[in-house]
Amino acid sequence: MVDFPLTGEQLALDLVNTRPRLPTGPVDLLATPAGLREWLAIQADRVSAPADAESVREVVLAVRELAATGLSALRQGKPPPESVLTGLTEVQRAAPVFLALSWADGVVATPERAGSAARRVGAELAQAVAELLAGPVESVRECESEDCVLLFLPAHPRRRWCSAQRCGNRARVARYYQRHKG
Ligand SMILES: [Zn+2]
Repeated sequence: MVDFPLTGEQLALDLVNTRPRLPTGPVDLLATPAGLREWLAIQADRVSAPADAESVREVVLAVRELAATGLSALRQGKPPPESVLTGLTEVQRAAPVFLALSWADGVVATPERAGSAARRVGAELAQAVAELLAGPVESVRECESEDCVLLFLPAHPRRRWCSAQRCGNRARVARYYQRHKG
């Protein structure tokens, strides 16, 4: 099992947060087939499940790169590179949404995406990133723990850590030792 330090944030943030910095250094948790498979399983209620996770690897990593670059620019108060904006647009355009109609005591319209699994997954992720970049991006915070790069959208303004267990406790312990040193 791969230990994803933070999931359950906005989809775009969950995606960027698959490259955390651990005590051993930066890691890419999607680098292995198991990591990619497990992350897609965690996101199953918001990302289509491809029959073969490896078939979507390239597009998932590409959208993550666009998301990270775009977020990083905006968080520094700069416009994202043009290539990020056009890239995210193109990935969505490759798998347009349509309404699939069926009958169940009335016409039921279900939004679906056209295209291969890779194109659909890419478009779903790119749309989530687009919504974040065009939306509440200024509210995105980075965990205050010195060596942590995880991003989140705080539901309440006092949230400072990616997770209270992971970084909150560590910071409290560090402060304790700082105070009681010597
Ligand atoms: Zn953290």
